[in-house]
Amino acid sequence: MYDLCREQCTERGLEPVKLHKYRQICNQQFNIRFMKPKSDRCDTCESHKMNDEKGVQSSEKDREAFARHTFLKDNAREARQRDRESSSAVLPRSNVSNFYYRRKLSVYNLTVHYSLDKSSYCCIWNEAEGGRCGNTIASALLKVLDQFTQENPTINNIILWSDSCVAQNRNSLMSYALLSFMRAHPHIKILTQKYSEAGHSLVQEVDSVHSAIECHLARCEVFSPVTLIRQLLSVRRNPKLMILQMKHRFSVL
Ligand SMILES: [Zn+2]
Repeated sequence: MYDLCREQCTERGLEPVKLHKYRQICNQQFNIRFMKPKSDRCDTCESHKMNDEKGVQSSEKDREAFARHTFLKDNAREARQRDRESSSAVLPRSNVSNFYYRRKLSVYNLTVHYSLDKSSYCCIWNEAEGGRCGNTIASALLKVLDQFTQENPTINNIILWSDSCVAQNRNSLMSYALLSFMRAHPHIKILTQKYSEAGHSLVQEVDSVHSAIECHLARCEVFSPVTLIRQLLSVRRNPKLMILQMKHRFSVL
């Protein structure tokens, strides 16, 4: 940023201030805060960018792989945009995030956002009830879908968007779980699973719910799962978060 400032000063024929002065003004007089990007950059894009900057000639195979990656990434983004503008129920959901208490009891949260009425469902369970293997994630999603269909009985076409994390989302367990969900709810005619290209998450709505939760939890102290649920219910969102608790004996079918 300082370099940019110097460039601009030179362009305008002004004498740039020294670095320490620039720092002092930036830190004390501006209401600016730097945010660390939440998600990691995509490895494929980053390594391509670095090779480009260093002038490294990439092989034919690498170039093809990168072209394919870019194509899939753009394709997924366009498909996501089309779904968002369509009238079917689009439910983006993210990989499971977890909270830690002071006593280090992990609590997991699967968030699903509903595109049409902007509501968000958080399915919560702690490590005593289950971990975060594909099986548990599939159960959590079924719990959300079960609640969702109860609240939206006329919806019969659902599009699910998620990250393409194989262990959590993109696996046969998930497909089987969704198949049995459709058997149990015959009025659902179409249920489509869509995945974003690895490294390029397309579930921004869910990320925004997670950051609202983080922001809220940073301002309060949580000592027990009950307090956590209470705090989640008071996260400032419109409409309010829908909190579902999952127990290990849960069975939706
Ligand atoms: Zn990428």
